[in-house]
Amino acid sequence: MDVHCSSCGEPWDVYHLRHDAIFETDLDQAEAEAWRELSPQLRLSQRYREKFKAAGYEFGASVINVVRCPACPKDAKPDPDKAALKAGIVEILGDDEDGIAATMEDYGL
Ligand SMILES: [Zn+2]
Repeated sequence: MDVHCSSCGEPWDVYHLRHDAIFETDLDQAEAEAWRELSPQLRLSQRYREKFKAAGYEFGASVINVVRCPACPKDAKPDPDKAALKAGIVEILGDDEDGIAATMEDYGL
């Protein structure tokens, strides 16, 4: 399943976001592996958001909600309509990452 960056439209594989993108940060192997076992909230704690940002990723309330990505042009801004829709989907579905991914894919988000 793919979801799309709110800023540039780049498709991102959901599995990659949930399991592999963390290895693009400068976290060591052990911490990156431990990250995968964390709850959805802890995975986006301030510390990890900063690590992701340094690697080019910015997320909404879920790692499946890609607001900015490494493929974004420097001045790309999130599309406000898409960003609002995606935030709403995450809010409604909460920690149900499979549901979030499926819903976003259905809407081409
Ligand atoms: Zn992007």
